[in-house]
Order: sequence, then C-alpha cells, then structure tokens
Amino acid sequence: MEPIGLEPKAADLAADLDERYSRQILFKEIGRAGQEKLLRARTVIVGCGATGSMLASLLARAGVGSLRIVDRDYVEPSNLQRQSLFDESDARDSVPKAIAAARQIARFNSTIRTHPQVADLTPQNVDVLLGEVDLILDGTDNFETRYLINDYAVKNSTPWIYAAAVGSYAVTMNILPGDTACLACIFPDSPRGAIETCETAGILNSAVSLVASLAVAEALKVLVGARSKLRRTLLSWDVWSNDRAEMQATSPRPGCRVCGERDFVHLAGEGRPHITLCGRNSVQIHERQRPVDFAEISARLRPLGQVRHNNFVLKFFREPYEITLFPDGRAIIKGTTDTGIARSLYARFIGS
Ligand SMILES: [Zn+2]
Repeated sequence: MEPIGLEPKAADLAADLDERYSRQILFKEIGRAGQEKLLRARTVIVGCGATGSMLASLLARAGVGSLRIVDRDYVEPSNLQRQSLFDESDARDSVPKAIAAARQIARFNSTIRTHPQVADLTPQNVDVLLGEVDLILDGTDNFETRYLINDYAVKNSTPWIYAAAVGSYAVTMNILPGDTACLACIFPDSPRGAIETCETAGILNSAVSLVASLAVAEALKVLVGARSKLRRTLLSWDVWSNDRAEMQATSPRPGCRVCGERDFVHLAGEGRPHITLCGRNSVQIHERQRPVDFAEISARLRPLGQVRHNNFVLKFFREPYEITLFPDGRAIIKGTTDTGIARSLYARFIGS
C-alpha cells in the first residue's frame, strides 16, 4: 500500500525543527538532537483501535518520522467514543482503520510518513509487517497477537511496548529484549477463564488515553536513546478505583521459554484461520490469500442482498448476517460467533 504523506524535503524538516517541534525541543531531555532522532525513527503500531489511535496520534504529533500502522478492521459507529483518529464519515463508509488513521494524520502532520497496512498480523506476514523498525507498539486487543509480537521482538532484539486497556483499567510494560523481562516472563501462558474484554466490561476513553500517554512517553525515551530513564516494571492503573500497582520486570525470568530458551512457538504457529473478534458478534476468516474482484462479486451478490463497495472493502448484507470482504480475500462475518456458520457463509457467497 502506498505511504500517505509527503516525502520530507530538507527545507521542510529544518522548518519543522524550528517551529513545529519548538516546545518539544525546549524540553531539555529531547532537545534538537533528540528531535532529529525522532524524525529519523521508524515505528510500527499493531492494531489501530482505541489505544492504537492514541499512540499513532501522539507519535505523529511528536514528529516520529515513520509510522507503520497495521490493522485488520474497519471503522464502525461504536468506535467513535474512544478511537480518536476516526470520524462519522469513516464509520459511514466502513473505511479500514489503517487507511482512516493515515488520512487523519496527514491532515495534522503531512511531513512524516505513514504506512497503512490493512492486514491481520500472522506468523506468515510478521517478518514483513514488523521488520525494519526501531520500536514496536501494541495497540492490539488480544494475547495471541501479543505473544506473536513478543516472539518476533525477542528473536530480533527489537524493543516493544505492551499496552492494554479494558473497563477502567490500564496496564503497560516496556520489553527491551536481553535486558528486561519479556511478556512471557511475566505471563508464561495466556490468562485463562473469564477474560474481560471491551465487549463484556466496556471501556473508558480515559483509561485508553492514560495507557497510550504512558506508552508514548516511554517510546520517546527509546527513540532518543534515554534508556536509563525507561520504566522497568509492569504498571497497572485503574482510573475509577485509583488502584495502582507495579511489578518488577527488571530482568528476564530464568527459564523463560521465549527469552531464555528462545523457543518461539508463536512464530512457528500454523496461523489462525478463524478468529472471534473483540467487541462484536463476528468471526474473521482468512484461510487463504487470494485477490478478489469487488466489481465481479458485487454483480453476483446484488440479487441476493444489499451490497456496496469502495476501493478498500465490500459489504454484503443478508439478514441476520453482514459480510465485510477485503481485497486480499479476508472477510469479517458479523452476526455469528460460530466458525462453522461463518465458513459456510463465506463459501456460499464469496466462494471456496
Ligand atoms: Zn522472557
């Protein structure tokens, strides 16, 4: 996908240094040298929902020169309460979140480069989507993807920042491979049982802002090289009860399967053909990559239900289901959490 934003020119960068970032340069710990490092920095944000939007917005305004934004989803009205880079027209047009985010960022900082990637992070594409960056930021909503990021980051010695928010609760940790604990040192296995999600516990936009602000402050420290100032704890904070806690994450846990034994089971995974998404009664299907022709499918489906498409998504409505199809053949099927039903709907309407 083409980057959105201008190729920075030398004159633009100089002008930015003097004016746009003047207040940040006045902050002595960053200064002009730090700002120049930020402008050269390359980052990736995985997931551009509530937390990812806020991370991207803050990093873009701070002048981080290259932002890759990876997201598999499209904008819906229920996102607008907290997902700060999107507006009502994005929801009306079902614009993919990565694209909508990049467009919005270009409106307030056209001098940085934003690289939208409408994709689900999988073991098959992780090297491409997370490669060649200085820092990975977590805007995901699930542990499966976080373990995949953790495996990649530890294997390739790329720093990453874990960040999550649900209900009124925010939690974050910096992972500096080979130095601090990794995610699997703290959580060897995915939390089991009744895991709260945005769907069951709701979410306060202030918890999102808090966790993103904490993570971005740490991100700037990583990118300007202020490693001694980085927090080396798992920090959790409930904005409603005001309970706060910190767990030491100073060094790797002896025997950690990931950073100790370097056994990267998530990188070796077989991929995930079906995923039930957070926040909706939906199943994602991406069993095989295959380009699809929206015009052809649209014509075929028109007698069977309501159908519309733009360059990024095709939506097909047939009560009680709604199928959203992406150009690579991936689909999100709303109206069921049964993977069997979702698979048969896909085969019937899109093709097997
Ligand atoms: Zn570890």
